[in-house]
Amino acid sequence: MEFKTDTKCVQAGYTPESGQPRILPIVQSTTYKYDTSDDMARLFDLEADGYLYSRISNPTNDAVARKICALEGGTAAMLTASGQAAAFYAIFNIASAGDHVVCSSNIYGGTFNLFAVTMKRMGIDFTFVSPDAPESELNKAFRPNTKALYGETIANPALTVLDIELFAKVAHAHGVPLIVDNTFATPVNCRPFEWGADIVVHSTTKYMDGHAAVIGGALVDSGNFDWEAYPDKFPGLTSPDPSYHGVVYTKQFGRGGAYITKATVQLQRDLGAVPSPHNSFLLNLGLESLHVRMAKHCANALAVAEFLKAHKKVAWVRYCSLPGDPYYERAQKYLPNGSCGVISFGLTGGRAAAEAFMKSLRLAAIVTHVADARTSILHPASATHRQLNDEQLVAAGVSPDLVRLSVGIEDVADIIADIDNALKAV
Ligand SMILES: *Cc1c(COP(=O)(O)O)cnc(C)c1O
Repeated sequence: MEFKTDTKCVQAGYTPESGQPRILPIVQSTTYKYDTSDDMARLFDLEADGYLYSRISNPTNDAVARKICALEGGTAAMLTASGQAAAFYAIFNIASAGDHVVCSSNIYGGTFNLFAVTMKRMGIDFTFVSPDAPESELNKAFRPNTKALYGETIANPALTVLDIELFAKVAHAHGVPLIVDNTFATPVNCRPFEWGADIVVHSTTKYMDGHAAVIGGALVDSGNFDWEAYPDKFPGLTSPDPSYHGVVYTKQFGRGGAYITKATVQLQRDLGAVPSPHNSFLLNLGLESLHVRMAKHCANALAVAEFLKAHKKVAWVRYCSLPGDPYYERAQKYLPNGSCGVISFGLTGGRAAAEAFMKSLRLAAIVTHVADARTSILHPASATHRQLNDEQLVAAGVSPDLVRLSVGIEDVADIIADIDNALKAV
């Protein structure tokens, strides 16, 4: 029987046998013992299932990966040490020097830097396209050596909503997978595979952990993309891997297992961005309440967005679940039950007003983090982007008055009272 999302949050991934621990055990061991060398050899040859070394796989990490896989409705998943590592593996698993990727321009700043600077230095070229570009324009960005299309369900921090169905259609027309970073929506609010995405990436650091306790990432495969239909495009998956005794991932692990197996036994083996089992245990605790927290984040954020929109000192509000938002219609399609807890807004008094406002808050804390239980707030122009003048800020896509608010799961009346009070000081 297939459980519903709320049940999967609590129970998926780990099912104890009679007499085993009720709670997911932390297997704090780098290594695993075998009775014979032959037993171990079968594991090394990828002919048997089991554990060799925790850089490649660990039972605690695997259980949490299974939970995220079940939540997204995928066929295979793996955990990584950070969201950045997950994004890197997602691309590097199918693209090498000389290849090309098309990517939405509205993505997390760290991912943008990873793609546009670091991976470019590795010889992989990225073309950035507007998430709102029409089909004909998206098509123009593709080249014969393009290996993937990439975007974020709800972009951090732009808060644009990706037209996943259109992006999937375009990717598939060019014989490449659509990779979607589903961090802000989480599988509670959107499951990109249901709209045609092929691979999902997560920074579990945000809502999945939800308590600002552990950095982590995840990579999930839908099992839908037919790598063997394009053997010349994806030779790493469809032809022998000399670093693993000539294994052909699509042959040995099928369409549902090839991509994640390769990312695990090749990229994780060689690059080692592996989470500690203790961190995965903490992530699992977060996941157990993800559905409850997301509902509360969304309800609180909508109430706060409505309050801000009605306030005369507030010039503009961006929240995709708020009627009138430019992405409201798209959010209703892809995120009908709620989007996330992150809002951005500007004050009529501009940059100076935003600075005064920030000084007067008591409940909302000034931090760079978003998407955890505590309400947090950031005025980029006076913090992360303070070296830029107003003109440079606009060029960077951050208006001088922009305030980013990550609405937590406290009592919404207290959150609104705090904001109301700070607005009086402006
Ligand atoms: C934070 C974030 C990342 C990067 O994840 P880390 O866990 O910080 O490495 C990637 N994508 C999105 C949408 C994010 O918000």
